[in-house]
Amino acid sequence: MITAYIALGSNLGDSRALLGSALAAMDRLADTRLVDVSPTYRSTAVGPGKQRDYLNLVARLETGLDAGKLLAQLQRIEADHGRQRREHWGPRTLDLDILLYGDATISTEALQVPHPRMAERNFVLYPLTDLAADLVLPCGTPLQRWRSACSDAGLEALGDTIEPGR
Ligand code: AMP
Repeated sequence: MITAYIALGSNLGDSRALLGSALAAMDRLADTRLVDVSPTYRSTAVGPGKQRDYLNLVARLETGLDAGKLLAQLQRIEADHGRQRREHWGPRTLDLDILLYGDATISTEALQVPHPRMAERNFVLYPLTDLAADLVLPCGTPLQRWRSACSDAGLEALGDTIEPGR
């Protein structure tokens, strides 16, 4: 089994319910178990126009799926939760990104792991550090170093954890 970290975000619809439902859907994937869920954060949206704040969190999975299959399953869960890929950087009911897949470094057209923008995203680094403070990235950099270099501007810890829902 491989330990994978998934970033979840939502800024459209009933974000809490959507995130809870997505957690449960990941736990139901074949050969996959939801092991841990980070506290919830609120973050200012980056992207076009005026958008609602995001709710963000990170989940730890144990999975026997290979990375490509895991990505395909996450995209199916996004679609099941009303995700429409109309506008790049636009508002979304559910966004699921593979941050880390074990120690793997993957660079194909469809999938880059570690996620290429995670180093500059406080809404990823903060919840990931909550789950895995001692984690060392595949490049050898301690996660804490990225997190210390990343401002918490626009980020608020809400102090709760969303439970997997239906
Ligand atoms: P987004 O609209 O931000 O969710 O981006 C989705 C696109 O990013 C999809 O076409 C994926 O194939 C691609 N992608 C590349 N690397 C990753 C990753 N680590 N996790 C999720 N999607 C990825």
